[in-house]
Amino acid sequence: MSDYQNTLQYAQQQDQADPLRPFRDRFLIPHKAGQPQEGLPLTYLCGNSLGLQPVAAREALSRELDIWQNHGVEGWFEGEEPWLYYHRYCKEPLARVVGALPSEVCPMNNLTVNLHLMLTSFYRPTAERFKVLTIASDFPSDQYALETHVRARGYDPDEVLVEVRPRAGEYTLRMEDILQAIDAHADSLALVVMSGLHYYTGQVLDMPAITQHAHQYDIPVGFDLAHAVGNYPVQLHDWQVDFAVWCSYKYLNSGPGGASGIFVHEKHHQAHLPRLAGWWGYQEERRFEMTKGFVPMAGADGWQVSTPTILSLAVHRASLAIFEEAGMKELRAKSERVTGYLVYILREINHTYGNPVTIMTPANANERGCQLSLLVEERGKALFDELVRNGIIGDWREPNCIRLAPTPLYNTFEEVWRVGQVLDHFYSQI
Ligand SMILES: *Cc1c(COP(=O)(O)O)cnc(C)c1O
Repeated sequence: MSDYQNTLQYAQQQDQADPLRPFRDRFLIPHKAGQPQEGLPLTYLCGNSLGLQPVAAREALSRELDIWQNHGVEGWFEGEEPWLYYHRYCKEPLARVVGALPSEVCPMNNLTVNLHLMLTSFYRPTAERFKVLTIASDFPSDQYALETHVRARGYDPDEVLVEVRPRAGEYTLRMEDILQAIDAHADSLALVVMSGLHYYTGQVLDMPAITQHAHQYDIPVGFDLAHAVGNYPVQLHDWQVDFAVWCSYKYLNSGPGGASGIFVHEKHHQAHLPRLAGWWGYQEERRFEMTKGFVPMAGADGWQVSTPTILSLAVHRASLAIFEEAGMKELRAKSERVTGYLVYILREINHTYGNPVTIMTPANANERGCQLSLLVEERGKALFDELVRNGIIGDWREPNCIRLAPTPLYNTFEEVWRVGQVLDHFYSQI
């Protein structure tokens, strides 16, 4: 860590020595509106919101469009890779990204829908145990899903939802507070569910510790991995997590509204858990017999409901192939270094200009992914606008938060160095 230097030469040397550097060319990097494609590309630090388009996406889509054009409905059954089995083509690479068995994962639907489906199976309240432990200020969609889900099941969200929040004056959650909340409510908890990597602060929770702790009391545990998948390495199978959901359009670069994914641990595959079913979860070999009485497919596939969105899965598959090639371990190694470099650059700015920027994201690299969340109390929006004027795309959260996410697949040390240059210029003018 200590070898970081705040010079262009250093940053360029790091990029030259970076074994993952060629992967940047697999992505289409946007340019400033009105600028020629040959012009300087934008510094895109917004993969936490929408990952960039893989070059391979267009060809993958084109292929399925050709099959549709030339074969119509037969595309479901014919050719080397019939659409009927399309989810299978994604399972192995997806399983490797989340540390699961292929039978434990399935790409399908969209994220919030899948969260509801998993809650249907894993929230099984009884007279004594009916509460759900979660975290305060989780992503709004997750909050709405929990609130409306428990209400639809006949419960009052105010009585059911137990929210752990950061302590006064702190930005991130303390693990001890989460574990203590589990202890305190153990007798009445039916489920623990929360984001594994917080969208706003960038904090990674100790998912194996939470899981182990809740399991002592036989409480099932699920994680929303929207911001973790493809960003922070997880081992869902080994950690014994009961279920997980994620989306593919953030770090997995599978396109706007791209297919979500679910994980259901193997230990639940024989359990005939309650579920909301549809024909696509019905036993594959007998699906078209159209008989009465639902019989699920084995494993996570049995939670499928509807006809899969083949075009979206085609892009997802093309994108997952890049993860296969790069490897999560290698991606994470680079990610720690690039984000560490951004931390170093920001500390230099803080040192020179009297701490204008607070990094809310934990300082410990094990407790964060690639994203840093910056609290800029004074002139935050002006700073954000200055970054944008200089072609640096992060995202802005009212009233004073800038999130920057250098992703290891397509961002460079040089880009991070440029962020520092813009900040330096901005604060030197004040
Ligand atoms: C991005 C995100 C969502 C979005 O859900 P969709 O159903 O895909 O719109 C939900 N939850 C979290 C934690 C997210 O980060």
